[in-house]
Amino acid sequence: MGDIIRIRELTKTYDMGATRVDALAGIDLVVGAGEMVAVMGASGSGKSTLMNIIGCLDQPTSGSYELDGERVENLDRNRLADIRNRRLGFVFQGFNLLARTSALENVELPLLYDRTGRPGRPRDLARRALERVGLADRASHLPNELSGGQQQRVAIARALVTGPALLLADEPTGNLDTRTSIEVLALFQELNDQGLTLLMVTHEQDISRYARRIVELRDGRIVRDEPVAGRGDARADLAALSTGGAACAPTS
Ligand code: ADP
Ligand code: MG
Repeated sequence: MGDIIRIRELTKTYDMGATRVDALAGIDLVVGAGEMVAVMGASGSGKSTLMNIIGCLDQPTSGSYELDGERVENLDRNRLADIRNRRLGFVFQGFNLLARTSALENVELPLLYDRTGRPGRPRDLARRALERVGLADRASHLPNELSGGQQQRVAIARALVTGPALLLADEPTGNLDTRTSIEVLALFQELNDQGLTLLMVTHEQDISRYARRIVELRDGRIVRDEPVAGRGDARADLAALSTGGAACAPTS
């Protein structure tokens, strides 16, 4: 399978008049199809800046970026928006669901902005995406009638509904308790097992060990990039939590 992300010598400098901030100071990163990567690093290390560029929400100062075989570092806003819609799904810490809108309609939303003429009726595609995250029976609920974990699953369904090549998640469990966080990671692992490529930012060690690979940033540079040794199995950890057995969220 091909590479989804190919980044070379990427930099991002914020020019603040008197001062300049090198948020990214030369990033090389290749992510293949089917990977599940956790991006870690202290606050200010450049995680969000990198995710914004990977997510085609922002442009680098220099360097090259190929997304799913397409050079994107020099595209204008309209072309970037197009690429975002066709190839990327986003999950955020705060869910970002529309409040007075049902789960099903929230999931359908990205398809209503879609100009690529994808086959299938939006309503049917949204229903299928809700099924994938196990929420078919909550289709007509409003966000405030759902738990935090369920809201995040709706947001994941919304990210999946366009059939993205890559799912990007910035602190997806930042607002969730431990158990619910592991539930979300169980869903991510399941989707990844089905072939979805996933890149998530987290500052939690316990969460990163469910990924297949950890990339750590410091001062805008990658200081660690390695496979996860003893990868966690989120579903098994949930089962252990339920039986009240050895429920220590394992850090070994
Ligand atoms: P992280 O997500 O790891 O906390 P960020 O990517 O948000 O890090 O920030 C990296 C560095 O870039 C920080 O020093 C931050 O202050 C700076 N930075 C981020 N966004 C901007 C911006 N829009 N303007 C100026 N500086 C920024
Ligand atoms: Mg950040």
